[in-house]
Amino acid sequence: MRSQKMLPVNELAEGILAKKRVVLGQAITRIESRKTEDQEDAKLLIEKLLPFTGNSIRIGITGAPGVGKSTFIETFGKYVTDNGKKIAVLAIDPSSPKSKGSILGDKTRMENLSRNPNAFIRPTPAGDLLGGVANNTRETILLCEAAGFDVIIVETVGVGQSEVTVRSMVDFFLLLMLAGAGDELQGIKKGIMEMADAIVITKADHDNILPAQKAKSEYQNALHLFEAAPSGWIPKVITSSAITSSGIDEVWSMIENYREKTLTNGYLNKNREEQDVEWFRSQLKYLIESLLFGSFISIEEINLLENRVKQKDISPIQATQEVMSKLKKRLNLSFAL
Ligand code: GDP
Repeated sequence: MRSQKMLPVNELAEGILAKKRVVLGQAITRIESRKTEDQEDAKLLIEKLLPFTGNSIRIGITGAPGVGKSTFIETFGKYVTDNGKKIAVLAIDPSSPKSKGSILGDKTRMENLSRNPNAFIRPTPAGDLLGGVANNTRETILLCEAAGFDVIIVETVGVGQSEVTVRSMVDFFLLLMLAGAGDELQGIKKGIMEMADAIVITKADHDNILPAQKAKSEYQNALHLFEAAPSGWIPKVITSSAITSSGIDEVWSMIENYREKTLTNGYLNKNREEQDVEWFRSQLKYLIESLLFGSFISIEEINLLENRVKQKDISPIQATQEVMSKLKKRLNLSFAL
């Protein structure tokens, strides 16, 4: 049963366009819900709001835990709101159902920014459903745009597959790194560096200023070795301190510059078109998978096969074939009904 307090789709859409944050929060909850009726609402809502989207700059921010992401976003957020912009921060929470805890929830993150009337912060629990989360995040970006946010940040912990997914939904991808710690130590793979439009060397204050400058020239040299990006943009390296605010203005003007350049050369829109196709593909894949695994083959059956593969009782190919033949049989049966 649906709660009485839940707004109908029309009112959600009106509330979002009227920039009501409470309504925005409620709409995002509807998007994240796995209930069928909520998912129907979410689809209708997105359709209604699509004409009002696309006007923000979408920025992905990643980096190893402890590199200073939340402190950076806090200071960066203050800077852009002081300059008359509205910022939304969507943090993908890496907590897994296994660990039960929420890493982002353990500490108070971005405390000042969360009280700023021109900022909106929303953690997304990643859980075990990366495909689902990615699509929720895409839709949440659109809702925030319809609600009038000019800058949207999608934050991830820079350690894996989620970066590739986040890259596929933002215009600009920022990698935060520390001076003095090796790339491997920071868990940053070369592939992630290759995706970055800029590297920000964090904590460039006090005794760390010189090491940060040294790291800057090292990363600049490393970035030169990569192939030119299709955007025509040459990746930049900036040193910054979230404590003294040094470099924060430079980061913002770089992003504005990127936006201007890629709007002029057509890349920004071309990239978003390609991202829409990618969104369609991943949404379709996710829905087909959920449909098949929910209705035609159970997770228990898959788990059983996985165990048999582990025990070498059956090869991965045989296991796949077993699933396929079950699916074929069951799908035919259902069509015959
Ligand atoms: P996250 O895990 O990447 O979000 O990192 P946090 O933002 O939580 O920062 C980790 C630690 O580094 C905290 O103790 C911060 O106070 C500290 N820190 C973050 N940014 C800076 C900075 O610019 N300068 C200095 N000196 N410390 C910083």
